[in-house]
Amino acid sequence: MEMGGAPPVVAKKTTHTPKAIIHQKFGDKACYKVEEVQGDTQNGCPGLAIPQKGPCLFRCSLQLPEFSVVSEYFKRKKDAEQSAAEKALRKLGVDPAASNSIVREPWDELISRLSYLFADEFLSSLHPLSGHFRAALQRDGDLYGLIPVSVFAVCDTKLGNICKSINPGVESNPFLVIPLVLKAAASGSFATSEGQLWMRRQNPYPPEIIQSSISSQLSSPESIWIEAVYIPYSLEKNVESLTLNVSSTGYYLDAIARKLSLADTSKILVSRTVGKASSEMRLYFSAPEWYLVDLLSDLNVEEVNSEEGSFNARASYFSGHAIYGNAILASIGYTWRSMDLFHEDVSLQSYYRLLISKIPSGVYKLSREAILTAELPMAFTTRANWKGSFPRDLLCSFCRQHRLSEPVFSMLSTPLKQSSEVSGSCKRLKVAESSAEETEYRNGAGVVPHGNESVGLGDTFMCEIKIYSKLQDLIIEYSPKDSYRKHSDALQNSSLRVLLCLNTYFKELDMPLEKLASAADIHIYPEKFAKTFASCPSIHNLRQRNETQRERLLDSNSINQPYIMPGHELYSFNIKGPDSGTSPSNGSLACINYVAFLVAEGEHMKERVESNDEFEFEIGVGAVIPHLEVVVTQMSVGQSACFNMDLPPQELILAATGDPVKTISLLSSKVCFLEYSIVLLRVTEPLEDRMEQALFSPPLSKQRVGFALQHIKESSAATLIDFGCGSGSLLDSLLDFPTSLEKIVGVDISKKSLSRAAKLLHSKLSRNSDAGEPSGGIKSAILYEGSITFFDPRLYGFDIGTCLEVIEHMEEDQACLFGDVVLSYFCPKVLIVSTPNYEYNAILQRSNPSNQEEDPDETSQSQACRFRNHDHKFEWTRKQFNHWASNLARKHNYSVEFSGVGGSADVEPGFASHMAVFRRSVPLETDNHPNPVDLIRQYEVVWEWDRSNR
Ligand code: SAH
Ligand code: MG
Repeated sequence: MEMGGAPPVVAKKTTHTPKAIIHQKFGDKACYKVEEVQGDTQNGCPGLAIPQKGPCLFRCSLQLPEFSVVSEYFKRKKDAEQSAAEKALRKLGVDPAASNSIVREPWDELISRLSYLFADEFLSSLHPLSGHFRAALQRDGDLYGLIPVSVFAVCDTKLGNICKSINPGVESNPFLVIPLVLKAAASGSFATSEGQLWMRRQNPYPPEIIQSSISSQLSSPESIWIEAVYIPYSLEKNVESLTLNVSSTGYYLDAIARKLSLADTSKILVSRTVGKASSEMRLYFSAPEWYLVDLLSDLNVEEVNSEEGSFNARASYFSGHAIYGNAILASIGYTWRSMDLFHEDVSLQSYYRLLISKIPSGVYKLSREAILTAELPMAFTTRANWKGSFPRDLLCSFCRQHRLSEPVFSMLSTPLKQSSEVSGSCKRLKVAESSAEETEYRNGAGVVPHGNESVGLGDTFMCEIKIYSKLQDLIIEYSPKDSYRKHSDALQNSSLRVLLCLNTYFKELDMPLEKLASAADIHIYPEKFAKTFASCPSIHNLRQRNETQRERLLDSNSINQPYIMPGHELYSFNIKGPDSGTSPSNGSLACINYVAFLVAEGEHMKERVESNDEFEFEIGVGAVIPHLEVVVTQMSVGQSACFNMDLPPQELILAATGDPVKTISLLSSKVCFLEYSIVLLRVTEPLEDRMEQALFSPPLSKQRVGFALQHIKESSAATLIDFGCGSGSLLDSLLDFPTSLEKIVGVDISKKSLSRAAKLLHSKLSRNSDAGEPSGGIKSAILYEGSITFFDPRLYGFDIGTCLEVIEHMEEDQACLFGDVVLSYFCPKVLIVSTPNYEYNAILQRSNPSNQEEDPDETSQSQACRFRNHDHKFEWTRKQFNHWASNLARKHNYSVEFSGVGGSADVEPGFASHMAVFRRSVPLETDNHPNPVDLIRQYEVVWEWDRSNR
């Protein structure tokens, strides 16, 4: 038996297979018959009596109207079919390899597609359109078998694509399919439309075909009630909920037509699907007469006529094409999955969720199920701290929502910088996103294929992003400045940057575009951008804040908390429960339980609009509404709090609430505000703290404080500055023991940390002074806001300065500047500086299981180069630290002594934290003393405690 050699030409994606070409040419007139034969036994054993089975082989005969061909034998059925088709094409004188050139005119294709849809077999197929055909056969009298043409446009993608090749305008207006379909029907003999917007099969289906396709449906008619949403074209009118009553055997479009007050169902236009790709949610609307006239008379209706009085801006915004007149948003229709009508309720809440899912922060809120609480964070710190959908996914979904092309991410990899010299060679690779066929890389040289994450361990990554419209117009271009050690960090950070920019736009839709793109790393193409988002301003009312309402609330809840810095807009809040001492700080995860109520002022009416039993978020990156973050950072674990806020935009409240009708009636009749009631359930410290607590006893931070205390005691210091005091852990500990200190000062640039420090010190000092001891010696405590790279004359010549775990949070040159400023201007008698020992990280990371958990994709090797905390700008080895400290001391006439905490100096790799103690070698010269009056005070007092005032 002869067997077919190479499989027939299997066409690439873009070209057509021989079988497809035959189908285009002959449609149903091509008839394939596959015959199965038993192949020869391969290792034949002549003497064996047991029959041996060889492999199964297939041969296909193809019958065409004029002739027939038979293929050779193949192991696979489909190869046999393709081979037969290929043979037939040869006979027809067609070269299948050049198939594209012989594809029939799209017009013929359209006719053959329609004839397929109107063929007998189609009636019983599972296809979104065949359900319409079957339902139409249930219609009575004159309506029997009538199908509105508009459903063809949206239910059959193939048809849509063919029409697109005839008229590219179909992309932006799917209804342009209608005149094409009608014209094609008129030239074929399968359907008739008689100048109407409906079509009907020309010859009736044979009774047995009807019988078999209808009988598989439900026998007894039942009534279905489904919730849908009515979207009036007038923006003044409210979107409302309505109920459709559909009989399971009737035609659902008739039910929708009734709600749209349409006498003729065929005048209903059906939109593309809205929302998720898999959804059946569509908009149904009654096309105005002029529109239909234009459409049918081949006039150019491509241009969106938003001036036209009946333009439905809201509905058009969802569907991405122009919609006129009143519309109904419903999730109903036939599917690929079943003969039965699919349906789902669409509530008002779904409508509002759809609306906010158009905005980056809205998609994020939805992904967290915390619409009134979550905010798109301003920074991507670590994977583990990011909650909700990742930035990359948010950006992709934003683009899909606005019918843009998928974003294009280009990864740039650079070998790690060696000190200050930057390597010139730059590799670019394009990260193929959802469009898998895109494998073209930007640059021929040094290309690293996608998927190979181990692009040299010392590489850093940058990710460029480009956002294009569907028609490939560039809208936004982002060229990053920062590079990352990890591929995914670069991707997520860049995506977040673009999202934040877009979000700013949606929050302030009337802002000039130049202002939006003022940052150098992001470029907006204003014309295309404005065109893409043209309809947003009329739809989103995100800034409908009522200023007077806000002021009134502020009055009635005066800011009476002593720890809040001026400028924080916070209504009073009430923290209840004992202070457990565990509070969240930047970088930690706070987990809360909350309820948000809508409260009508002056009435006793309260409506629960959102709640969450366990909601976790990172502190310090704006991951929640600002008021909530301020309150939570003042709380300790186990405490509860309550606070009021003015109303966010109404669409957010309506997307959150489960009872929109009640909520709307409250909102429209009363002055309302939101009341939040929260409990702080737990706090997860940043990774660095977790490691330090788990591996050292006492924890490393306590050991650093202990080290400083020892020196304070030895030096009998009376005055102390803590540079970069943070939340005041050192200052607070000082108050637990009697010391020689009289004046303590903390400086930091973070207001949030300072407010926490103020709270700690305030409560301990008041308590201590009431009890008289042990910090009885302290006469004054001050907290300053400012950068420690600037000198403030009020802090000259103190007895001791501490700077624990601060310098690594500054860029290296800033850390060096601080060293110079502190020793040449502040001139403390003693200065203690601590910073992590980079060499110790290997031990920390190896012994910390939570680390593996955080980043399963990390190789152990690149883990070793990671810093302990995402905010660290550098971490030094012993050699680097000694080099810095020794030079500094020499330059400014100080001595320096090295030590550390955690581990030991004699065991590799040394201490976990480097410590350096600088001592001034010469007494302060009085002439050198800067005149406090001449020098500018750089720092601002944010909190002050004076014993004499008590
Ligand atoms: N010393 C504290 C806090 C360490 S965290 C402790 O040991 O617990 C580092 C602190 O340095 C942060 O609070 C940060 O706000 C602060 N910081 C960083 N750069 C600074 C600068 N230029 N001036 C003042 N403070 C700075
Ligand atoms: Mg640190």
